[in-house]
Amino acid sequence: MSIMTREDYEVQERSRLQPRAAFADSTRGRVRSLSLDPYRTEYQRDRDRVIHCKAFRRLSHKTQVFLAPEGDHYRTRLTHTLEVAQIARSIARALRLNEDLTEAIALSHDLGHTPFGHKGEDALSECLSEIAARCPGAGIPERFEHNTQSLRIVERLEYEGKGLNLTWEVRDGIKHHTGSGRAATLEGQIVAIADRIAYVNHDIDDAMRGGVLCEVELPKGPTDVLGHNHGARIMTMVTDMVESSHGAEVIQMSPEVWEAMMELRQFLFDRVYLCGEAKAEDPKAYRVVRSLFQHYLEHPEDLPSEYRLEMEPGSESAEATARLAQMVTDYIAGMTDRFAIRMFQRLFVPSAWKV
Ligand code: MG
Repeated sequence: MSIMTREDYEVQERSRLQPRAAFADSTRGRVRSLSLDPYRTEYQRDRDRVIHCKAFRRLSHKTQVFLAPEGDHYRTRLTHTLEVAQIARSIARALRLNEDLTEAIALSHDLGHTPFGHKGEDALSECLSEIAARCPGAGIPERFEHNTQSLRIVERLEYEGKGLNLTWEVRDGIKHHTGSGRAATLEGQIVAIADRIAYVNHDIDDAMRGGVLCEVELPKGPTDVLGHNHGARIMTMVTDMVESSHGAEVIQMSPEVWEAMMELRQFLFDRVYLCGEAKAEDPKAYRVVRSLFQHYLEHPEDLPSEYRLEMEPGSESAEATARLAQMVTDYIAGMTDRFAIRMFQRLFVPSAWKV
């Protein structure tokens, strides 16, 4: 019986992938160097590190769009992440790019999301901007950004504060997945677009399941271009991305398919994200996050010990407030929906009400 070693995979990558792919044996490397694994390439190892981290497991109990979904068939952050990984890998494989790197970026791209979807993100942003206004010059960010938080998780928070020590290419892909600047690797660029393909399609699917939308209500222009059902639309977008990116400098869609996708996305904002079913519980979710933030800011002693390491007791300086605000942000952003609700109940609801 023969075995595949890391060197075998590296040789295979050199013969199978296109010249502009990211090759695992020429990664820019990690902040702390590691001895190489006998069987896994550097990107395979990063993919595995992400799957084993705590923040990845918590994605299964974080809202994508529909809050704390009661139906078992709605997407969560975890199933969204897996759909992005599937779409991104299909595109990478067809373009002869590095599937392992693509998968590692896709699986980690949303690790920094707050509980309660974008409402949680909005609430944290508001809390931070209020403190930033009170402590000018202390370096407090004026808003919460989930891709910055995803990077904090893999670089600083996971693995008891040591971080996952991922390769530069994975961290670059995480940083740029929202389209803020372009990822340096073609694999990172694939994930940025695959993220949109996944959410535009699955949010339509979830909205239909939730009775918020039906197929005939979708705008005709985009569906004539993309297809008249879930599977057809994904296939059009993926095929178009492969064909439009083949031989191009960057990963892209054709203007026609891109515009159709963006039109559907805008339709989702108007019909689903900013009104109706998905919004019904938003004020409550918002209140939970704000209340928790305020509480931990006033009672840092209630933070778990791993979030208190850098505390200087009694310090009232703007710098100390900035550090505290960061720790509270890290703690709350890491919570799942149900954990945040449980903490809110424990802190603000008289216990007799719970029986
Ligand atoms: Mg995403």
